[in-house]
Amino acid sequence: MSTIDSLAQSFMKFPGIGTRQAKRFVYFLLAQNPYYLDTLAREIAELKKTITQCTGCFRYYPRVGESSLCSVCVDDADSATLMIVEKDTDFDSVRRSGSYAGRYFILGGTIPVLERDPASKIRIHELLARVEEGASDGLSEIILALSANPEGDFTRDYILKALTPLAARLGMTITTLGRGLSTGTELEYSDGDTLRHALKNRC
Ligand SMILES: [Zn+2]
Repeated sequence: MSTIDSLAQSFMKFPGIGTRQAKRFVYFLLAQNPYYLDTLAREIAELKKTITQCTGCFRYYPRVGESSLCSVCVDDADSATLMIVEKDTDFDSVRRSGSYAGRYFILGGTIPVLERDPASKIRIHELLARVEEGASDGLSEIILALSANPEGDFTRDYILKALTPLAARLGMTITTLGRGLSTGTELEYSDGDTLRHALKNRC
């Protein structure tokens, strides 16, 4: 197999990338200067060495020292609220909006409707453990901030079923972002105003 084909196969593992796009990426790279390719190769090689996953919220962040927690989990801004988002890019959107000052938990995906093994698709066990742990840290509200589409709704229902008994036992409330987010909206595409509105109207 030529390097063109093997590199194209690597690109086909990327989300949403098919054969044609994968090939286009390879030919794009072939047309670039060596400096660009060297920088890209170095950044890819450095990625796992410099970026680590937080053991508190499961987001990726630049490793600093020996701590296994990211800065958002360490600073004690507001440990009373925990916002559950699907992925790192959703975390980025909410942070950028500046409308929320509490803690986060990254689910790591959503559950496809009709999925037979929902627990394998999201960090449900880790979430339950995190909520239990939060009890000693003053956690009183869990905010579900999932996409307003069928998969987001299905995931929300699954989480509610798993989380409600625990939250009730620990005296915590579970809220959902207001539907200022129009139906079909992915959280990561929401602008700051929409997010602020959705947060204010959570129920
Ligand atoms: Zn964290």
